[in-house]
Amino acid sequence: MARGGLLLFGGSFNPIHVGHLIIARAAAEQLGVERTILIPSAAPPHKTGSDLAAPEDRLEMVRLAVAGEPGFEVSDIELRREGPSYTLLTVQAYRQQVGADVPLYWLIGGDTLPELHSWYHIAELVDLCRIVTAVRPGFETPDFSTLFGCLSLAQIQRLRESILSTPRIDISATQIRARVREGKSIRYLVPESVADDIAQGQLYH
Ligand code: ATP
Repeated sequence: MARGGLLLFGGSFNPIHVGHLIIARAAAEQLGVERTILIPSAAPPHKTGSDLAAPEDRLEMVRLAVAGEPGFEVSDIELRREGPSYTLLTVQAYRQQVGADVPLYWLIGGDTLPELHSWYHIAELVDLCRIVTAVRPGFETPDFSTLFGCLSLAQIQRLRESILSTPRIDISATQIRARVREGKSIRYLVPESVADDIAQGQLYH
């Protein structure tokens, strides 16, 4: 894969956890990008649960998580936009910023790969950037069959070739929210600053 470029990592980050941070760092290193931008979604089209923290709270946790980390930035681009957080619109905005020649990567986890068929204008998105996948425990062998109707074989092949060898981290935001509800410790699962913020804001309690 080409060196240089920009790695974009979107998510609900409800909350951000060390799984996100470890795969983002590993992906950035493998791709040779100097800048990684974490992008909390305002209204994730696929997640409308009642335990979704306010966008501003999720953004703040991401800010705390990456504070002082070289090469890592946070963007509120999806919070500033009206309507659902379609990835295509975000990538279009970055593509316009960096120009046609700079490699643009969008990072997802292995569980997201078979869901791409439901993403807004996915074929266009696949051509506009390179979607790279971090394997996730439980989703080691991604199922591409769901993508046959909406992507060409060449596009699916490109996704297949863009599976990174990142560490397998079996941590999810769902687990963390459940632990907070149950009064269990989330130390080591999220950065300390994020754990403090969750406690102070009584998030997920
Ligand atoms: P939830 O448990 O609430 O569904 P999550 O832990 O999957 O949340 P998201 O913010 O929804 O976190 O994830 C953003 C992106 O990061 C998604 O593409 C997801 O697949 C990926 N991701 C999250 N955790 C991991 C992990 N431990 N390993 C690999 N990918 C991950």
